[in-house]
Amino acid sequence: MRDIIIIGSGPAGFTAAIYAARAELKPLLIASSVEIGGELMNTTEVENFPGFPEAIMGPDLMTKMQQQAERFGTEIVYDDVVELELDGPVKRVRLGNGGVEEAKAIIYATGSAYRKLGLPEEEPLSGHGLSWCATCDGFFFRQKTIAVVGGGDSAMEEATFLTRFADKVYVIHRRDELKASKIMQQRAHDNEKIEFIWNAEVTAIHGGDQVNGVSLRDTVTGEVRGLDLDGLFVAIGNDPRTHLVHGKLELTAEGTIRVDGRSSRTSVPGVFAAGDVIDPFYRQAVTAAGSGTVAALDAEHYLAALEDTNSPAEAELEAEELDELAAINN
Ligand SMILES: Cc1cc2nc3c(=O)[nH]c(=O)nc-3n(C[C@H](O)[C@H](O)[C@H](O)COP(=O)(O)OP(=O)(O)OC[C@H]3O[C@@H](n4cnc5c(N)ncnc54)[C@H](O)[C@@H]3O)c2cc1C
Repeated sequence: MRDIIIIGSGPAGFTAAIYAARAELKPLLIASSVEIGGELMNTTEVENFPGFPEAIMGPDLMTKMQQQAERFGTEIVYDDVVELELDGPVKRVRLGNGGVEEAKAIIYATGSAYRKLGLPEEEPLSGHGLSWCATCDGFFFRQKTIAVVGGGDSAMEEATFLTRFADKVYVIHRRDELKASKIMQQRAHDNEKIEFIWNAEVTAIHGGDQVNGVSLRDTVTGEVRGLDLDGLFVAIGNDPRTHLVHGKLELTAEGTIRVDGRSSRTSVPGVFAAGDVIDPFYRQAVTAAGSGTVAALDAEHYLAALEDTNSPAEAELEAEELDELAAINN
């Protein structure tokens, strides 16, 4: 049986692997069969990950993280986890190929998925004028004309934030009223750079290698018209990838995995969670990486305590008490 299995190959999973491998825990990382490297594989330049003053391409950053994890002895399996047994001292991980891996501790770092519009142009234009993250990409749209799709709080927040850069921000919404809270609506309405396009659905995104416009269908009349744009932000929701742990780990009202305070401890001893799957707010590569660090350190303390007690619940308590003591002594 292994000490530790990490599920997920985004910034959270690879960072947890770097720490666990350097602690001589010989982690096994299950990377998925198709989406190896996580969400940054879908973007171009990353300008806000510290250490890369000239920016780095998303896939290059993830390759470097993987190489760093492997350098210290992380074993990587290119398969999907399809089932988990988390109770008790032996955690079992079933893979898509039918194999089963066992470990004393699990770090769950499966990320989250931004909801898509469901258009074929989304994949090729992602990172080429089409984005799901204003914090990440707003800076690229100085003095441009862009649009945000959505009608909730995050759409209003993104639109308002984007007016720092863009000259004009359209908000495209399917209905004639918003779901967003009153205060967020008011902020957006008061902003003179924002213009609402009501009862409109994006039916196509145009552009060869860079977004240059969209087709909009009027949801009342059915009429279709074009809108010239330099960029499009989609803000219609985000789903943490938790389907494997439904009924096994406690979730929050936002649908993320519940962890204990600033730790990565889930509701089951020996199971730790990190990255966007626990984070309804920040969802950045560097916060996911930091969260992966926390999970590796928590798992390391848990495994050390498990050697003394031989009971997952007692080990969790002992590790928690040791962490609290360390905090007081610091
Ligand atoms: C287009 C785009 C651009 C972005 N740009 C930036 C940016 O410039 N700067 C920034 O800081 N952030 C950016 N972000 C956000 C950033 O990518 C995420 O916050 C970060 O990747 C989250 O890391 P994570 O490790 O939690 O999850 P993810 O990166 O989502 O990785 C999760 C991994 O788990 C794997 N997985 C899921 N289920 C299973 C399973 N059952 N079995 C095995 N593996 C599984 C997935 O395949 C994936 O590899 C961007 C996001 C997007 C979508």
